[in-house]
Amino acid sequence: MLKPGATIGILGGGQLGRMLAMAAAQLGYRCHIFAPEADSVAADVAAQFTNAAWHDRDALATFAQSCDAITYEFENVPVEPLAALPAGLLAPGTNALEVAQDRIREKRFVEQLGGRPAPFAQVDYDADLADAVEQVGTPGILKTRRDGYDGKGQWRIDSAHDALGIRIPATGCVYEGRVAFECEFSVILVRRRDGAVRFWDSPHNTHEGGILATSTLPAPPIIGAQVEAARSLASRVAEKLGYVGVLTCEFFATSNGPVFNEMAPRVHNSGHWTIEGAVTSQFENHIRAVAGLPLGDTSSTAERVVMENLIGAHALRLDRHLADPRAHLHLYGKAEARDGRKMGHITRVG
Ligand code: AMP
Repeated sequence: MLKPGATIGILGGGQLGRMLAMAAAQLGYRCHIFAPEADSVAADVAAQFTNAAWHDRDALATFAQSCDAITYEFENVPVEPLAALPAGLLAPGTNALEVAQDRIREKRFVEQLGGRPAPFAQVDYDADLADAVEQVGTPGILKTRRDGYDGKGQWRIDSAHDALGIRIPATGCVYEGRVAFECEFSVILVRRRDGAVRFWDSPHNTHEGGILATSTLPAPPIIGAQVEAARSLASRVAEKLGYVGVLTCEFFATSNGPVFNEMAPRVHNSGHWTIEGAVTSQFENHIRAVAGLPLGDTSSTAERVVMENLIGAHALRLDRHLADPRAHLHLYGKAEARDGRKMGHITRVG
């Protein structure tokens, strides 16, 4: 159990790291951010900041010496340099990164645990694509195997004709059938080192252009009916990985039950509502798990909670957001409101 005043290292410098650092501060911990970009919104609220490349081994070793525990807020941290970290310092482990960084490996991993992803085929080279489309059928989505997020690195394929001329990147792709879903939801759990697991209520998530737009509780009945099966899969994933911290699995609710979309080995945008809408937020419980503290209660504090992302220039309508007495406004401190950039979010409870 980390003592008050201990330092938690966070790999990654975005808004998830920022909200983790704020939760850590509330519990009496200091945070040290390690990130390759100089303008880190997590570093703005942390005690220390190392601005270095992921592969800078010296910088990583010095960073590790200053930390009593290390976690990550970004699933694409390269795994290889992390192998040099002292054993037991990093939670969750690198095995969760290895699975989540590769869409094919992730789908196979989940299948082995009895989960059901969308039908898919591996596409390593340009010449593989036509066969993959033939095998899986249309409509489908071609996704880069690695480094995709928020709908980036994806091509929608409505007919075999759409697949003509697409150049497959060197790291390969996966072609998956488009799932005819009723709606989307996520399972967010927290697991302690001793295996204790808790779940938050599962929100109904809507996306715009591949980016999360809203998370709403209560979720419609179709989600309620599928949450148990989805939780069971998510807890098998966590157990198999010996996972410590918050883990998110995203699902499509279909007329045939839940279809696994993807996992994130970290706190998740669809869990931001837990800051005001749950007894203990995802950020606090992640820090508790990493620090070896008892987990907090994950119950919702109201029946109705709505989280709305502020994306791009939307975030700039501050007068309107501040005039709404029920809106809990969170701004991440990013200077530039580029299109598609997550600038903040609003949560309304009750
Ligand atoms: P991803 O980055 O893979 O989570 O994709 C972002 C969003 O695109 C998802 O939340 C869905 O709304 C949509 N999407 C991704 N894959 C599929 C699929 N196989 N079938 C239908 N919609 C999908």
